[in-house]
Amino acid sequence: MKKVLITGAAGFLGSHLCDRFFKDGYHVIGMDNLITGNLKNIEPLFKEEHFEFYHHDISKYVSVLGELDYILHFASPASPIDYLKIPIQTLKVGSLGTHNLLGLAKAKGARMLIASTSEVYGDPNVHPQSEDYWGNVNPVGPRGVYDEAKRFQEAITMAYHRYHGLETRIARIFNTYGPRMRLNDGRVLPAFIGQALRGEDLTIFGDGSQTRSFCYVDDLVEGIVRLLHSDHAAPVNIGNPDEISISDFAEEIIKLTGTDQKVMYQDLPTDDPKQRQPDIRKAIELLNWKPQVDRAEGLKRTYAYFKSLSQDELHHKEHQTFEKYIVR
Ligand code: UDP
Repeated sequence: MKKVLITGAAGFLGSHLCDRFFKDGYHVIGMDNLITGNLKNIEPLFKEEHFEFYHHDISKYVSVLGELDYILHFASPASPIDYLKIPIQTLKVGSLGTHNLLGLAKAKGARMLIASTSEVYGDPNVHPQSEDYWGNVNPVGPRGVYDEAKRFQEAITMAYHRYHGLETRIARIFNTYGPRMRLNDGRVLPAFIGQALRGEDLTIFGDGSQTRSFCYVDDLVEGIVRLLHSDHAAPVNIGNPDEISISDFAEEIIKLTGTDQKVMYQDLPTDDPKQRQPDIRKAIELLNWKPQVDRAEGLKRTYAYFKSLSQDELHHKEHQTFEKYIVR
């Protein structure tokens, strides 16, 4: 049985990856410091013999018993609100955390895939963004803590690949959505759906003309699995190129939720990228992968999840409890 370590296991993407690898017959070790993750996301796995959870901050030395075949590094705050609230941890997990995991991968002879991001392109001057574009990032702005940590993460991963011959993979992940996104992480989709469900107006930042391209989580997971098993060490964009402006997206959410909410305008955050769309030709060619779930279907599934949350969760009153879990 192959063994995989997944960091950020209790988060949005990490938890979906735990499910997928467990379902595919792997022994899964989940790791998370639970700053932004929620154990509820992986609750069903706790009863399984082939799932283990380590409550650990990977910015500190990481130790795992026994052999390890793969490491998927998905631990990091990943929303602009989080970068403002926990900037130092964001920098540390992308830099020190990645270094620790690369050391672990080297010691175990494991293959390591890192979750990089479209944020390495910053506010891009090239559209759509292909992997050979080096980006337009402000290192000292509020997003710099994430963007630069992720750029450093790519650099150190390539250094381990070139210098130590470590098998590494780099996924540049574009905006992804789906069930288990944190309602209060400030990202646009949970923000809009949460506002609609609470009967509040939808907050559009700026004039809403900025664009994003949203990928459904199942498609993302499939892309990650294929990249992991490919032999391609250079970065690969994983995302859905279907681009939409934020104001049109707000209209879609209002229609989807069947509410008659209005939109209100707020200041555009510093360095908010004006446009973003992945060029996925490389993923199509190398991984034979492209997204299958269109936005109408993906939003329907995501809305069903948010509707199933309790009133306490909807109003951010839910607190994480650890008692019912066995946490190492
Ligand atoms: N946004 C918005 N209203 C919100 C939250 C976000 O208009 O309540 C905008 C935000 O300014 C950005 C886009 O939606 O232009 C996507 O934001 P998100 O934080 O989801 O992701 P990122 O900016 O990292 O792509």
